[in-house]
Amino acid sequence: MNRSYEVIIIGSGFGGQLAAIHLKRRGIENFLMLERRDYMGGTWSQNTYPGAAVDVQSPLYSLSFEPYDWSQMFAGQEELRAYTQHVIDKHGLRQKTAVRSTVSKIEWDQQAQLWRIVVEGQEPYTAKFVINASGPLSTPVIPNFKGRDSFKGRAFHTNAWDHSFDYRNKRVAIIGSGASAAQVIPEIAPDVAHLHVFQRTPHWVLPRPDYVFKPWQRALLRKRWAYKALRILIYWVLEFRVLGLKYSKTLLDLLATRQARKNLEKQIPDEVLRKKVTPEFTIGCKRVILSDTLYPAYCRDNVSLHDKNDGIREITETGIVTETGQALELDLIVYSTGYDATDGVISYPVVGRDGRTLADFWADYPRAYLGTCAPGFPNLFVVTGPNTGIGHTSALFVIESQMKYIMNSIEQVKQGQHSVIEIKAEAEDRYTHKIHQEMARTVWQTGGCNSWYKSKSGKVIAMFPGFSFTFRRWASRFRKKDHSFDGDLV
Ligand SMILES: Cc1cc2nc3c(=O)[nH]c(=O)nc-3n(C[C@H](O)[C@H](O)[C@H](O)COP(=O)(O)OP(=O)(O)OC[C@H]3O[C@@H](n4cnc5c(N)ncnc54)[C@H](O)[C@@H]3O)c2cc1C
Repeated sequence: MNRSYEVIIIGSGFGGQLAAIHLKRRGIENFLMLERRDYMGGTWSQNTYPGAAVDVQSPLYSLSFEPYDWSQMFAGQEELRAYTQHVIDKHGLRQKTAVRSTVSKIEWDQQAQLWRIVVEGQEPYTAKFVINASGPLSTPVIPNFKGRDSFKGRAFHTNAWDHSFDYRNKRVAIIGSGASAAQVIPEIAPDVAHLHVFQRTPHWVLPRPDYVFKPWQRALLRKRWAYKALRILIYWVLEFRVLGLKYSKTLLDLLATRQARKNLEKQIPDEVLRKKVTPEFTIGCKRVILSDTLYPAYCRDNVSLHDKNDGIREITETGIVTETGQALELDLIVYSTGYDATDGVISYPVVGRDGRTLADFWADYPRAYLGTCAPGFPNLFVVTGPNTGIGHTSALFVIESQMKYIMNSIEQVKQGQHSVIEIKAEAEDRYTHKIHQEMARTVWQTGGCNSWYKSKSGKVIAMFPGFSFTFRRWASRFRKKDHSFDGDLV
């Protein structure tokens, strides 16, 4: 098998798929996509937990050039997985992918001007360019609770739901109350004997404006112009949220806080419970949950909410002992405890020019020019890198914007008959400085919460601090003077 490629893409989620499609469009066929799982597709193939669904309207949470016959406004996981497979097959990406290929390290060979890609249990690959699309929310984290491994019942993360276990009529605990938990809880609560929810911090919850498309609407949306018009409408309605998240606290109160409080009062009559689930931080600071069913699930007799005052003291062979001394007997523990998303944006070591590692460069906090490139790491592009996250709209819009920059960069190398492109240190520094200056006024920095958007440095490194069209504009214009070619820096 060939071990040497012009481009290696790491990860086969939407990021990897988009990179592959764009390379093909530019006539670059000499590439390979590496995927650690034994199947392709990323987020929506991996997250099969009950209730999994997108929380951005599907006509927008889809590739701009690949419309789909969605059955409802917020597609569920199975439909999203089918969409992903449709994209993979339509663009012939299966033949371009090696599954069961876990990248464990990449290293720049200065002399050969190539990346060496180490894959567990295989011969290494080499490639001129590497596009890392290993996903911002792909590597699950389970905190090391005291006694965690002693539990004799079933235990798994939402990211790896074990469907062989029948949770019906079982005693279940779910640890975490964020976006995934908020989807699992209402879905399983009616079927389990008892559900204990362990909530560290409550989230703000807004109604979910879901909608099943009628047959005539689906027929209409099969017309390109109609799909596009709906997509544009959704885009601008969502983009409007940035005004509240960044520019106007009054607007945020009017648009979101009031509605969230009303929702809370309407759906949770019990004052004690309501107090437990009322956040103390500004709405938007953590990801806002869209749900009509979460609060009613909390009100069920067979659901107990344990807040931070009644957290986990210890996990035992038979269940969980809480901070207040209650011993809960359990059959299943579901970890909805999130991902290694902030300080470990890439989960394998990256060794760049002069033996410098990306972990070293990111020792203070992760940073990158357009969230994509770092000085000292030639010909390397990171999809959904630092400060490319977007809370108010579709992540796919940002990924498609990054593709413009990545493809322009590769084009520049090819057109100029160069071997190497690298972002200049001062350009990256200027960009990062601007990002954090803009961030200072956003709700993510000032909203009084501690979220996975922040790195241990206290800087918000997950989010882009502004309108998504601003990012697209920046990513679309290639600034040649910000880059060096063929190591004219070295
Ligand atoms: C449960 C959940 C719900 C979400 N909901 C939304 C939403 O509603 N709206 C939104 O905009 N975004 C949402 N997201 C964010 C979502 O991650 C992005 O929308 C998008 O799918 C990211 O695509 P990606 O290709 O960058 O990453 P992923 O889809 O995560 O794909 C990364 C791929 O890389 C592979 N990989 C990782 N490491 C390695 C390695 N070392 N070697 C080889 N392969 C590797 C992984 O196995 C995976 O297949 C959600 C994420 C999750 C987890």
